[in-house]
Order: sequence, then structure tokens, then C-alpha cells
Amino acid sequence: RLIVFEGIDGTGKSTQIQLLHHSLQQRNIPSVTTREPTDGHFGQRIRALYRNRQTVSREEELSLFLADRNDHVTTLIGPALNAGQVVLCDRYFLSTAAYQGALGLDPQAIIEANNRFAPDPDLALLFELEVAEAIRRITEKRGEHPNDFEQFAYLQKVDTVFRQMRLPYIRRLDASRAPDHIHRDVRSLVDELLGLR
Ligand code: C5P
Repeated sequence: RLIVFEGIDGTGKSTQIQLLHHSLQQRNIPSVTTREPTDGHFGQRIRALYRNRQTVSREEELSLFLADRNDHVTTLIGPALNAGQVVLCDRYFLSTAAYQGALGLDPQAIIEANNRFAPDPDLALLFELEVAEAIRRITEKRGEHPNDFEQFAYLQKVDTVFRQMRLPYIRRLDASRAPDHIHRDVRSLVDELLGLR
């Protein structure tokens, strides 16, 4: 089963992945965690671009994300699913649709491009939070200073694309609550998917 964690920055996806992974391990359910952009060739190139604040065209950025995901599906996600593991992925193609869609590309076309090679998730947990609160968290807790207005406006667009998505495997979660509270909802959705109750 493929379970993906989606949402804007600062919504607590990584924390929730760790909590869920722990809970599955305790119950002896084989699972792996992974993330995108990956630590592979293309993923490292994407992260380096952000680190160095380099800009490439949005088409070029999209093709890097698709190449990264193609590697990810071939080398990690596909084999793990075939081995019967539960795969927990921090960001997947809905992030590409939202973030690169927010740059002016068509989110639906991005999803269709992914559907040619990337399996649909069985469950996409979409963490929703007001952009102002997300930025506050990033600034305070991570010590980062996502400067500004420009960042705010961009995340606002990303958030809008996420909120407009309508796909059968999406479940929305209110990410403004305490982590254990959110985890309870995550676990109940996952238990239902895995037939664990
Ligand atoms: O999830 P994580 O914080 O590791 O993501 C790294 C950065 O890459 C984030 O700040 C996010 O804004 C950006 N990103 C993006 N487009 C994607 C996925 C992530 O711009 N498709």
C-alpha cells in the first residue's frame, strides 16, 4: 500500500510520518518511509537549486521532479510495494501539481503526466493549514526566515491548488491541531485502509 503525505510547508507532515511509522512498527507491519525530492541524483539537483536560490524555467523544474519521481518509483517505491511493504512517502505527485501548478502550469496536466509512470497512492493525507500559521511555524520552529511577501503569495497559490483537488484517494486533515490529535485521525484512516480493526 502506498500512503502519501501532502500539504504546504509547515503543516507537520514529517512529524506525522514518524508517528505513523512508529505505530506500524510496534504492530509488526512492514513499512518504509521515504521522501521527495529524494536523495537520488535528480532530487539532489532539485534541493541544490533551492539552496542556492537558483531559478530555472518552470518547465525545467517540472521535468526534474518527474525524473526524480521516475527514479523513485523504479528503485524504491515499486520494489517495496511488490515486497508487500507499506510505503510512507513525504510528498508525491500532488505536491508537484500544487507547487509547479502554482507557477502557472496546469495542475491537471501535471497529474496526467505522472499517471503515465507513477502509481496512484492508495491514500493521500492532505494536511491543511492557514498559510499565515504555516509561515509562523516555519519561522519559529525551524529558525528559517522564509522572507516575505513573495513566499506568502506563492504558498497561498499552492494552498489554493491543494484545496481545489478532487481525487477519490484524498483525505483532508486539519493540521492546526496538536500532533497527537492529528495522529489519531491518521491512524484511524490508515487502519481502515489496511483492514486493521
Ligand atoms: O518537504 P520538504 O520541506 O523537504 O520540501 C522541500 C522544499 O521543496 C519545500 O520547501 C517545498 O516548498 C519545495 N517543493 C517544491 N515543489 C515540489 C515539492 C517541494 O517547490 N513539487
